Amino acid sequence: MPASPCTSVSLTPIGRIESDYPDKFGVPRQPGLADAARARLVLTPPFDDPLAVRGLEAFSHLWVTFLFHLSPERWTPLVRPPRLGGNARIGVFASRSTHRPNRLGQSLVELEGIDTDAGVSLRLRSVDLVDGTPVLDIKPYLPWAEARPEARAGFAPEAPALLPVRLTPEAQATLAARPDATSLRELIHQVLAQDPRPAYRRGAEDRIYGVRLRDVDVRFRAVVNDESKTLLEVIEI
Ligand code: SAM
Repeated sequence: MPASPCTSVSLTPIGRIESDYPDKFGVPRQPGLADAARARLVLTPPFDDPLAVRGLEAFSHLWVTFLFHLSPERWTPLVRPPRLGGNARIGVFASRSTHRPNRLGQSLVELEGIDTDAGVSLRLRSVDLVDGTPVLDIKPYLPWAEARPEARAGFAPEAPALLPVRLTPEAQATLAARPDATSLRELIHQVLAQDPRPAYRRGAEDRIYGVRLRDVDVRFRAVVNDESKTLLEVIEI
């Protein structure tokens, strides 16, 4: 008798992400775009067994499979990728949209180290994951099998263009007073350079946005400089 088809699965997270990104807004749209972003993958019982990560420290990069837990469960066959300006529609399976059946996400992240003194946690960088993201699996990345620089990449053939970022003197002063000033400055620049604003608002505008990084609310706006170029200006931290 043929085995009955698997029609439903139930998965148990193996851990959760602690990251510099308390909210979805502002998180880079793929990993590797803001390497100043630090994160931890904290394994939860019974998966926090040091034996389960034995040998993993020999790999520099990992695939992390996770749940887009902040996305709604409903999905539609067509989505509007920011990369296409937020208006053109493509199939959900031709996209990396967070609104998808099963809400599964997959990110290639850098492994900086593994701590096993209290439980097990992996130090990661360059993540595109919100703090609290449930992690379903980890696998080591194999460049000889998985790196394909010649691959066609449809509507997203290269990394998005970066916007210049500047801080007002007031914002610089607040930043300078923090113990993590250097790394936070780098993180702010890398995150804002990705232009986190919705795709349909890419010019200059009066609106003030807020992106939360670590424990701060970074307030910024778009301005046009003397050469008619748009840049993002941080006005308050
Ligand atoms: N690299 C992954 C992939 O391709 O599956 C994620 C790509 S997805 C376009 C990246 C965006 O997901 C981030 O910019 C952030 O806004 C959002 N995001 C990150 N963690 C999330 C979570 N736990 N729930 C919902 N959205 C999340």
